[in-house]
Amino acid sequence: MDFKSLIRDVPDFPKEGVVFKDITLLLKNPTALNKTLKALYDLTGGQKIDKVVGMESRGFIFGPMLAKKLNAGFVPVRKSGKLPSTTLKETFDLEYGTDTLEIHIDGIEKGDKVLIHDDVLATGGTAKATCKLVERLGGEIVQCNFLIELTFLKGSSKISDHAIKSLIKY
Ligand code: IMP
Repeated sequence: MDFKSLIRDVPDFPKEGVVFKDITLLLKNPTALNKTLKALYDLTGGQKIDKVVGMESRGFIFGPMLAKKLNAGFVPVRKSGKLPSTTLKETFDLEYGTDTLEIHIDGIEKGDKVLIHDDVLATGGTAKATCKLVERLGGEIVQCNFLIELTFLKGSSKISDHAIKSLIKY
């Protein structure tokens, strides 16, 4: 399936100079939605996964669907102040300023086999912070799994200790 034909480039969103990869055309097409989920699942290669960790907010779209297909649980990683119980935090640098991500401390048990999933791997800051959170809780990262990888931003170099699989590359 030509997934790229269903990814829309939106120039100057969310700010000037950024070309945003919009996945909503792919999501609203039932055939494409189904084929995307199957393709993301196939990237996992049938490995045993206990938890899928998805990042706010578009990691919450395919993350839980993948978890269901893998017979795994789903654990959200959220922006600061959104998770209600006790959390671990990781702060990382953005182009201007910093951002903080959190995970519930009881989201991952020591030795859990974890699949990290997000819609887009861009500079890799989000994925790296998420990997750190999972590892601080004793999780074993089996794969970092993305719908889209913007290879020209070299985000994979930030998480090169881990297996990285992306369905669509630009
Ligand atoms: P990074 O931390 O620079 O790798 O950015 C990745 C995060 O930003 C992911 O959670 C994405 O959802 C979001 N993101 C960055 N660029 C895009 C884009 O072009 N389309 C959709 N989401 C994006």
